Amino acid sequence: MGLGYDLHRLVAGGPLRIGGVDIPFGFRCAGHSDADVLLHAVTDALLGAAALGDIGEMFPDTDPANRGRESAEMLRQAWQRVASAGWQISNLDCVVLLEAPRLAPHRQRIRQRLGEILNLQPAQIGLKAKTGEGVDAVGRQEAIAALCVALLVPQAAESSLD
Ligand code: MG
Repeated sequence: MGLGYDLHRLVAGGPLRIGGVDIPFGFRCAGHSDADVLLHAVTDALLGAAALGDIGEMFPDTDPANRGRESAEMLRQAWQRVASAGWQISNLDCVVLLEAPRLAPHRQRIRQRLGEILNLQPAQIGLKAKTGEGVDAVGRQEAIAALCVALLVPQAAESSLD
């Protein structure tokens, strides 16, 4: 199993992209890529579960090719690497830490989008949101963070006819 964590600063000017979904909001996450904090946490959880490094190693922010890069594409490429090592995903469980906006109205769309990117059923994807209770960077609406745990299982062996 693997754990992924990420945090991005908030800056003025939406929309806010979380989990591959653009949410209407006056602030967005700042970053070198499209700064999708949830997809970055999922990417690191998958790479970590297979002990294949992390998103920063795979997509260095010193490489101009990664500027503004779609996080969904980075997640897909990372997952290809993990799948090539013989793994499949059992399930993911994610937490987004944000003071605003409310994530609940967008939860199903985000789970669906994650399922599309990783070829998973929504039932394999847990997604929860927590506020920062008004304290720390999340609570002061200076940042959004995300956590993900991923459980991998070996790919099913070729079925035998005998
Ligand atoms: Mg990030």
